[in-house]
Amino acid sequence: MGLVSLTEMCQKAYQGGYAVGQFNINNLEWTKAILLVAEEQKSPVILGVSEGAAKYMTGYKVVTEMVKAMLESLKITVPVALHLDHGSYEGAKLAIEAGFSSIMFDGSHYPIEENIAKTKELVALSNQLGLSLEAEVGAIGGEEDGVIGGGEIADPAECKAVSDLGVTILAAGIGNIHGKYPANWKGLNFEVLQKIHDVTSPTPLVLHGGTGIPDDMVRRAISMGVSKINVNTECQLVFADATRKYIEAGKDLEGKGFDPRKLLAPGVEAIKQAVREKMALFGSVQKA
Ligand SMILES: [Zn+2]
Repeated sequence: MGLVSLTEMCQKAYQGGYAVGQFNINNLEWTKAILLVAEEQKSPVILGVSEGAAKYMTGYKVVTEMVKAMLESLKITVPVALHLDHGSYEGAKLAIEAGFSSIMFDGSHYPIEENIAKTKELVALSNQLGLSLEAEVGAIGGEEDGVIGGGEIADPAECKAVSDLGVTILAAGIGNIHGKYPANWKGLNFEVLQKIHDVTSPTPLVLHGGTGIPDDMVRRAISMGVSKINVNTECQLVFADATRKYIEAGKDLEGKGFDPRKLLAPGVEAIKQAVREKMALFGSVQKA
C-alpha cells in the first residue's frame, strides 16, 4: 500500500474511540523501527517529519522516496501517512510538491485572521490534491510568573473558526507541552478540551506533546475527540538511554561492537518497544 492521507484513518479513530499515533522520524533507523511495529501491531501509523528533520535528512524528496521505498521493501500493508509536522506556509508547499500525503500548517504564531486566511488557502490546495491538513490554533495564556507549568491553552471560539474552514484535524493547546513536562505541570485542561470538542465536533482533535502525559489523561482525552497523538521526545529519550547503556557497558569495544548496525541496535529496539506501548495505550492496535 502506498502513502495515505489522515482523512480516513483519523475519522475511523474518531468514530471508534481511539487515536492514531504520530511518531516523528529522524533517519532510516527511526523509520524502519516505527513501520515494523505498525505492521506487527496491525496499527495505522503517521510518520511525522518536522522541517528541521527534513533538512537533516537533506530534503523532503529524500524523505518521501525513502519512506515509499521502505513500504515496499518491508511489505507494509497497514495505512501509513507521511505528515509534515509544524509546517510553515512555504514548507507546506515544498512537502506537498515532494509527495507528502499530509500536511500540518502551523499558523498559530500569526494573528488569527492571518492564520485563517493561510489555512483556508492550504485546505483548498490539499482538498484538490487529496491530501489531509492539520491546522493549529494559537495559544492563549498558560504562562504564570514566567513559568510554563500550565502549558498552552487555545480559545474555543478561535478553534471553531479554524475548524469551520474544513480542516481534516485540529491541534489546540489544552495544557500540553512539547518536550519534557516541568515538575509543576498542572495536567491537561479537560474543561477547555470539552469546550473545544463541543464547538468543533465532528472534526477530530490532535494532542501534541504526547511524551510524559499520564495514561489516564491520555485515555480521557481520546474519549473527548482526540484522534491523533504526537510522540517525538519519548523515542529520542529511549534511544539515547539504550545507546548510552551500550557504550557505558563497553560493548562497542568488544569484537565488532563498533559496527553501526550493532551500536544502534539497542536504541532501535527501545524505539520499537516505546511505539508498541503507545499504540496499545492509544487503542490503535489491530485497527489497520
Ligand atoms: Zn507539536
